[in-house]
Amino acid sequence: MKPLTLLIKPAAGLCNMNCGYCFYRAASEGRENRVMTTGTVDALIQKIREYQPSALSVMFQGGEPTLAGIEYYRYFIDRVRTNLSVPVQYALQTNGLLLDEEYAAFFKKYGFLIGVSLDGNRKTNDRYRRDRNGGGVLPQILNAVSVLKKYNVDFNILSVIDDENAGDIVSTWNYFKKHGFDYLQFIPYVDEGNGVSLSVEAYGDFLKKSFDLWYDDYMRGKYVSVRHIDNYIGILLGRPPENCAMCGVCGSYFVAEANGDLYPCDFYCKDPYKLGSIFDPEPFAINETHRRFIAASEVIHAHCAGCRYYALCRGGCRRDRTDHDTKNRYCKAYYEFFEYAAGRMLRVAQLLADS
Ligand code: SF4
Ligand code: SF4
Ligand code: SF4
Repeated sequence: MKPLTLLIKPAAGLCNMNCGYCFYRAASEGRENRVMTTGTVDALIQKIREYQPSALSVMFQGGEPTLAGIEYYRYFIDRVRTNLSVPVQYALQTNGLLLDEEYAAFFKKYGFLIGVSLDGNRKTNDRYRRDRNGGGVLPQILNAVSVLKKYNVDFNILSVIDDENAGDIVSTWNYFKKHGFDYLQFIPYVDEGNGVSLSVEAYGDFLKKSFDLWYDDYMRGKYVSVRHIDNYIGILLGRPPENCAMCGVCGSYFVAEANGDLYPCDFYCKDPYKLGSIFDPEPFAINETHRRFIAASEVIHAHCAGCRYYALCRGGCRRDRTDHDTKNRYCKAYYEFFEYAAGRMLRVAQLLADS
């Protein structure tokens, strides 16, 4: 028996926003975008039951998953509770537009961890995150967060970093602090069509500056959870990273589309990577397509093999390695960051180990 991690897209590619950097829009174009039916939920739960995982982690994502409606989630949880006896952790990533008190009370009741997408202050957030009419959405997002706070729901903030946000990370950090957002994760903006959209130099500066901000706060007794820093310090403490991009190898989860199709990763919901469907007899068995996907991430570039920071970096996310060369496109940024911050990360790890 082993744990099973599912990323479910209950509303497929449907979304009530039109963000400038949405990679999923292109991936879901031409597909039938409709909410997962109760029949598909039933089939999915049945296949999980047959797989007999030791633990189950379910992350709902989109498109915008709240477009599925709260009844979808009520039904899903009812089916889980009726049919499965494993411990289940729930998470949901949202743009916040539809998040209301009913949703918040529900999330609290079932222990959901909510990720809210927010890039920074109005100027930063409005750069890409816009509604279908091109309008800014910051007030709605802040309102969603205040509803989550009112119901004491655990949440974190997911920010996309482009060159401008990277250069302005001090403002973004202070903005998040001002609002009491203490759980943060940052991901680089990579445009599939144009290659790197966050430059290597800007990412390197971002990693260093954000670490300085984090470290100064930490040393003043103020802990802010930043996902990539938490993972690096966890690795130094001998813990396995929870972020698959830091494991050095893919294959830690399945993406289930609204129609039941399965893919190996949110960044690879594309036809050549389709693994099958939850309607297949054994959908969570590793098949040839999945094996090939995982194997591509297992290739260690010669630079990485000889890198003094390999144990920390492990070559990074496969998505950031090019087709022709398995070295990470952000290698220089990571290497310089480790040179800059590894000593202080080690110091924090030692403090934690001694505490
Ligand atoms: S909210 Fe998410 S799914 Fe919707 S357009 Fe923005 S990035 Fe894409
Ligand atoms: S491509 Fe990156 S995000 Fe996707 S499974 Fe591999 S490491 Fe994880
Ligand atoms: S810093 Fe560069 S060379 Fe070192 S492990 Fe990371 S990607 Fe590989």
